[in-house]
Amino acid sequence: MTDPPSRNAELAARDLAHVWHPCTQMREHASQLPLIPIVHGDGAWLVDADGKRYLDGISSWWSNLFGHADTRIASAIAEQAAKLNHVMLAGFTHEPALQLAEELTRIAPPGLTRVSYAGDGASAVEIALKMSFHYWHNRGQSRRRRFVALANAYHGETLGALAVSDLPLYRAVYGPLLFEPLVAPSPDWLDAEPGESAADVARRRLADMRVLLECHAQETCAVIVEPLVQCSGGMRMHVPAYLSGLRKLCDEFDVHLIADEIAVGFGRTGTLFACEQASITPDFMCLSKGLTGGALPLSTVLTTDEVYAAFLGDYAANNAFLHSHTFSGNPIACAAALASLAIFRDEPVLARNRTLAAHLARRLEPLGRHPHVANLRQTGWIAAFDLVVDPDSRRPYPAAERRGLRFYRRALEGGVLLRPLGDTVYFLPPYCIDEGDIDRMVDAARDAVDAATS
Ligand SMILES: *Cc1c(COP(=O)(O)O)cnc(C)c1O
Repeated sequence: MTDPPSRNAELAARDLAHVWHPCTQMREHASQLPLIPIVHGDGAWLVDADGKRYLDGISSWWSNLFGHADTRIASAIAEQAAKLNHVMLAGFTHEPALQLAEELTRIAPPGLTRVSYAGDGASAVEIALKMSFHYWHNRGQSRRRRFVALANAYHGETLGALAVSDLPLYRAVYGPLLFEPLVAPSPDWLDAEPGESAADVARRRLADMRVLLECHAQETCAVIVEPLVQCSGGMRMHVPAYLSGLRKLCDEFDVHLIADEIAVGFGRTGTLFACEQASITPDFMCLSKGLTGGALPLSTVLTTDEVYAAFLGDYAANNAFLHSHTFSGNPIACAAALASLAIFRDEPVLARNRTLAAHLARRLEPLGRHPHVANLRQTGWIAAFDLVVDPDSRRPYPAAERRGLRFYRRALEGGVLLRPLGDTVYFLPPYCIDEGDIDRMVDAARDAVDAATS
């Protein structure tokens, strides 16, 4: 007699008959890489249909803050859903949307007083790009139609957001459809020349940015940046001084600064927002991912009164920002965000995170000396290293060997979800993780490094 198919296998087979998954070569699921059906979440853990548990070391793509199925967020969602599911935000409003706007403007860098809503991160980036362009248009400067993006940037995958992204894996095929940004070098501290510090790299990259703006400021709407950590680009980090220098340059050359805090917002870099570490206020700040604690899609763009004012006028002048999404400011999603922000208010989240992040750093330190590990780095809650042939030359493995994928599978077998970006392994667990589970996560990583590099 053969065993009946497991519940996992049964669900995976039904899924593969119809569901087209994101960020996936679907053919691999049919053969070597089984799809994992998750039936419930429990704090930092996910549980599959056969009862196997996985520690979520990457917060489900950096969205989850306080644990899966957090009851405070779940009850806020249930309560709001029973009261008002949705109403369009044109001509109407509701308390969750206005209260969330009040709350965001209270905690955001000073001067960000105007809040617009969308659903996903990429839509927020679209809004920021269009708003900046339209601002200059309303000010009579329609020559400005270019954007400056950083090398190795990632801002999402709709066409506008992809245009200002610099990861060939996602961008190359669609190149013919995309506008061309001006690309400035990344301040990534791993690019340090011998003898150069992270601060030196930042200074050098600011000098490059100055040259670019000297040539192009008059045709430029905005510079867009992921503050402190380029996450999708392989957890590449830079010092806060780069951001303060960039703010100064944008002021000097009179172009907007767009801070895409979609990944780094809500405590990921150690402060609530990464921009705080440079004491800057961008002209636009994009938020999503952790905004609802990771429970529902919601994104927002915060901007200044100055930008807002440029869109006021006679209806006939067509100055208004007419961009809309059906579910802009959805009440249930806003209620989830308010519940998540209440946790930041009521509990010492950032202080607790600092202690746990220090523990993670101590536990990772020996792994940083592994003969196939290089570039161990950390900014606040985000830690990463690269799998390499040898740490002195930092030579990467040939991409075709897919060492990161081997790492992923081995860690999963050990009950830990860590999904490298290429050969970059990173740690970004939900904030509810405890020291014991951090140890478990690092032990699984060490085992998976051994397996992936042997
Ligand atoms: C994830 C991400 C986006 C896109 O957000 P989606 O919700 O996936 O569209 C944009 N910018 C950054 C920095 C991100 O990490």
